[in-house]
Amino acid sequence: MQTTEPTPARPLAAPFTDGLRAGVLRYQQCTACGHAQTLARYACQHCGERGALHWRDAAGAATVCAVTVVARAPSEEFRALAPYTLVIAQLDEGPRLMAHATPGVRIGERVRAGFFEHQGRTLVRFAPES
Ligand SMILES: [Zn+2]
Repeated sequence: MQTTEPTPARPLAAPFTDGLRAGVLRYQQCTACGHAQTLARYACQHCGERGALHWRDAAGAATVCAVTVVARAPSEEFRALAPYTLVIAQLDEGPRLMAHATPGVRIGERVRAGFFEHQGRTLVRFAPES
């Protein structure tokens, strides 16, 4: 368990990005109220508590809430991937996050997080549970 105290050498999102490289999806959970959230935040989105956020490992199972296909990449970095599928998925632990997904996934479908390397970064890609 790690607190979210960032340092100049260790950015706030480091536990998340380190997790991706290790094949683990992480989220923040507030020990004051129990709220779970994605992205690296300084305070709990629910109760506003600072300093009570701890990183937890998600199991990787989720349900698709929204799907879109990106035909025109927003930056040069993603041009090689287009067209690609993005989803908002709700982790079984509660929080939602946006990530890549295999083409053809549908709203309500059960998916599992996988990971891929793109231009030196590890990104999440959900695929249907088999
Ligand atoms: Zn809270």
